Amino acid sequence: MSLHHHHGLFFAALAIFTISVQAISTQSFSIPSISHMHKHKQWETFHNFTSCRLGQTQKGLSTVKNYLHRFGYIPHAPPTNFSDVFDETLVFAIRSYQKNYHLNITGKLDDNTVKHMMQPRCGVPDIIHTEKKDTTTGKQIRSHFHMGSYYAFFDGNLRWPAGTKQLTYSFLPQNNVNNDYKRAFARAFSRWAPWMPFSFKEITSNETADIKIGFYKGDHGDGFPFDGPYNVLAHARPPIDGSFHLDAEEYWVASGDVTKSPVSRAIDLESVAVHEIGHLLGLDHSNDKKSVMWPVLQTRTRRVNLGYDDIKGIKVLYAIK
Ligand SMILES: [Zn+2]
Ligand SMILES: [Zn+2]
Repeated sequence: MSLHHHHGLFFAALAIFTISVQAISTQSFSIPSISHMHKHKQWETFHNFTSCRLGQTQKGLSTVKNYLHRFGYIPHAPPTNFSDVFDETLVFAIRSYQKNYHLNITGKLDDNTVKHMMQPRCGVPDIIHTEKKDTTTGKQIRSHFHMGSYYAFFDGNLRWPAGTKQLTYSFLPQNNVNNDYKRAFARAFSRWAPWMPFSFKEITSNETADIKIGFYKGDHGDGFPFDGPYNVLAHARPPIDGSFHLDAEEYWVASGDVTKSPVSRAIDLESVAVHEIGHLLGLDHSNDKKSVMWPVLQTRTRRVNLGYDDIKGIKVLYAIK
């Protein structure tokens, strides 16, 4: 009983800490904190589970389940916490993950799978589970989609309305983004512009902009907290929400050759922006590795050219001939 009380206090303290972190996030973010370098947080412990097999229990295995749940491979979380048992659910989730990323389907946490899970990636889940009402039978059915081989749309084929002539975007004023950053975003929008029935324009008013770009640290109030350096880089919402959030704690490179960056964790801002703009326009993750909508982006890597699959997808979504 006293133990539970103790935990309650701990989480209350944590909540206060999170609020203060959020306040810090409104300050300049472009100079990364050295103390965060080379920190993978809990995902690096995934290497401890490579020999774990069905039926075995290993302390901390629940973190792998949390990861797979977060990205849609385990549809439902238990009411309390995931167990540390290597159970059938985990095997199934690992197999789906391996299938989606064209890895060997072993159902085990082998080296390749663990290495892949530790790569920086987009925060939008790979499989989105929705509760749908089947109108023919009136039954509640669960469906997931987007395990196909190419481009995918969000449920309901969400897109900006027909007749839209221009989409405006703005930056969170508190971020004070510099011109190098602004140019990187402008280049990212220009990658998509030739294929769209509307143009993109930066405006200063954050209230009226269709797309709102902001760098945030940790918990920033939308239920999808950022996790510091590496791991989740950014997330954006499908039309017509317009939220485009980036993790302020990444080592962003906005100009120059990211592949020659002396910082091993350097992430190319334009590459991430091209991917997230795809979400903002209505494209979901693709499992074509050459697509900009592939969810994973390695450090010191540039991926800014739309793939054949991306162009095909956006043309279908907006019915462009
Ligand atoms: Zn994504
Ligand atoms: Zn967010």
